[in-house]
Amino acid sequence: MDGKAPRSAGAGSESTAGDRALAPEPACPPGAQPFGIYLHFPYCLSKCPYCDFASRAAAIVPQERYTQAVRRELELRASEFPRRAATSVFFGGGTPSLWEAREVGGVLQALDRAYPFTADCEITLEANPGASDEARFAAYRAAGVNRLSVGAQSFQPSVLQNLGRRHTPDETARAVQAARAAGFENVSVDLIYGAPGHTGALVLDDARRAVALGTEHVSAYALTLEHLAEEVPMARDRRRGLITVPDDDTQAQMGAVLRAELERAGLKRYEISNFAHPGREARHNLNYWRGGGYLGLGVSASGFARASDGRRGRRYTNRRAPESYFAALDRRELPEKEQERIGTREVLLERLYTGLRLTEGLDLATLDGLCGTAICRTKAQELTRFAAGGLCTWDGTRITLTERGLDLHTSIAAALTP
Ligand code: SF4
Repeated sequence: MDGKAPRSAGAGSESTAGDRALAPEPACPPGAQPFGIYLHFPYCLSKCPYCDFASRAAAIVPQERYTQAVRRELELRASEFPRRAATSVFFGGGTPSLWEAREVGGVLQALDRAYPFTADCEITLEANPGASDEARFAAYRAAGVNRLSVGAQSFQPSVLQNLGRRHTPDETARAVQAARAAGFENVSVDLIYGAPGHTGALVLDDARRAVALGTEHVSAYALTLEHLAEEVPMARDRRRGLITVPDDDTQAQMGAVLRAELERAGLKRYEISNFAHPGREARHNLNYWRGGGYLGLGVSASGFARASDGRRGRRYTNRRAPESYFAALDRRELPEKEQERIGTREVLLERLYTGLRLTEGLDLATLDGLCGTAICRTKAQELTRFAAGGLCTWDGTRITLTERGLDLHTSIAAALTP
């Protein structure tokens, strides 16, 4: 995805227990659950050497062909996601700001017919600073997009070069200005820290320059090259000792510096790697982290059809190669590469691991009721020990990780797994 670094558990932050005032649940029709729609756009201007997302460099993007394929997939999936109202739509990639606004607008109209957008539906599009200008953004705004996510990554020319990014820091600043001029009141920037050439001072400068842009939201992920496929150039070069990246401790310190600066500017950490001014948290991602269902459309997109009891569902992931995706849809077949039935155990694990990422915390009593477990009772000793050690607050119902606890998110979630 443009601007999305591989996920890291992240480390440290200034924000602690009690930060529960997140965005209210979107206004759904009575009885409806939040429901997000993710659209993946798999084309980019060039392929960045650290990227293992489903994206490819394309001199000519098959604009209409891709739109038609996505719309056909939407039709084929209608029966699995009936009677939903969309509370969020997210165009990710790849570089969706290469998708012409008229195509994006056509897709949005089809989505709105199938899943009527709530009045406050959040509609985000990821934008590469190298493929951004005011006229383009104004056309997206007119098409219905109301939030832009700009892939800044860094404001250091040397770091951008090391990451193989083509855009410049000035282009990022101009992209945010263009977004404002085009009428966007909700803008996010993505940052990467711990890249080759990054120092603590440079990460601090990145944070300050991101703050100076005045966006409502910032995502900040550590660069993670471990576990990436051999064909990802920077992962391969790192294994061969051809490039060095800051070690884990240094990366963690950089993360702490960055977080402190963002929080000083009023951007509150609401998830391990995400920061926002109050009320500007990303609704689409909140729905993921809160365990909501979502429709995924496009190459490599994933979706989760959640059963109404909340305890089961089906997850699918689409084919990764555009040719294969197109071919399946030409045959009027779902373009899935894999799918799995999600049972109560998987729901429990996902809710634990994703819910603990949020500074609003996780209601373990409700989770016990949903999944038929007794974490509150059987893990009482661990919960008390974590709270006494300053890793969380625990009121007998809800657990909320502190800054130190978020550093240890994965091991805490493992310890609470029944
Ligand atoms: S812009 Fe770069 S990082 Fe983003 S999806 Fe394309 S290749 Fe990957």
